[in-house]
Amino acid sequence: MSSVNTVTGPIDTNQLGFTLMHEHVYVLSEGVIANFPRLWNREERIAQAAAALSAAKAHGVSTIVDLTVLGLGRDVSLVREIAQRSGTQIIAATGLYTYDELPHYFASRDANVMADLFVTDIEAGVQNTDVKAGILKCATDAQGATAGVEKVLRAVARAHRRTGVPISTHTHAATQQGLKQQDIFEEEGVDLSRVVIGHSGDTEDIAYLEKLIERGSYIGMDRFGIDTMLSMEKRVATVATLCERGHADRMVLSHDTSVYIDWFEPAMVKQAVPRWHFLHISDEVIPALRQSGVTEEQITTMTVDNPRRIFEPQGSY
Ligand SMILES: [Zn+2]
Repeated sequence: MSSVNTVTGPIDTNQLGFTLMHEHVYVLSEGVIANFPRLWNREERIAQAAAALSAAKAHGVSTIVDLTVLGLGRDVSLVREIAQRSGTQIIAATGLYTYDELPHYFASRDANVMADLFVTDIEAGVQNTDVKAGILKCATDAQGATAGVEKVLRAVARAHRRTGVPISTHTHAATQQGLKQQDIFEEEGVDLSRVVIGHSGDTEDIAYLEKLIERGSYIGMDRFGIDTMLSMEKRVATVATLCERGHADRMVLSHDTSVYIDWFEPAMVKQAVPRWHFLHISDEVIPALRQSGVTEEQITTMTVDNPRRIFEPQGSY
């Protein structure tokens, strides 16, 4: 038996159930609301989030992995309140989200300073709460592994080896950043099977995806609903092809959506990506996968068994 920390306390990994591996409750521009609090209506936002996650629960979602870290406006006490109100299990993350530069604090300091903070989030709690992070997050975008990004990846790798909690990443799939992430993790001694290379579903390049899988990592087919980048039909076809080729045991499904993202006007988001919400996989993607020949067993593997296996191994190495 293994346990995993959610924002409302530890649960057995067998209780994870249907898990969306890469989501956000809120995505907020770091520091903006703290400085301009009139932009935030806490009660309204909490009610909206609790309603959205209760609906997801009613549609079969039992756990959400919230990969919101420094750089994305993390607030775990807020997320805990929403988990309590909606009855959804939510796993919080630690790490740092940047495509290039680091906050000045970290730019002038060693990677181990960052790693120590991540370990504290995992072992003691985040933001002076007793909410413990259950996963580590880092990002590489089109700019590649810049000095700042590389420092985060190494800090995440070290915090992972000290604690055993899994790593989940953001990548720019078109420029094959996942392979470079694997190189850096390997240099740090990371077992690549403990890593989810995120946003892999943004490409239809099967050869690239099989390279990531060959090295042992899971791939996140995790932006269902962002049809402007790649349509649902194409995303589904890629997953179906990889299932056919025997890789259901290396894929996880998600939306990378949020209840509220302050990067854009809400009306604009709704218009541009109307299917980018927490019910899309349950209601539309899974039926489409079945139609494409993906079996019930493979669907369970991707949505229940793989998430459980990702969180199961415990401890430092
Ligand atoms: Zn994300």
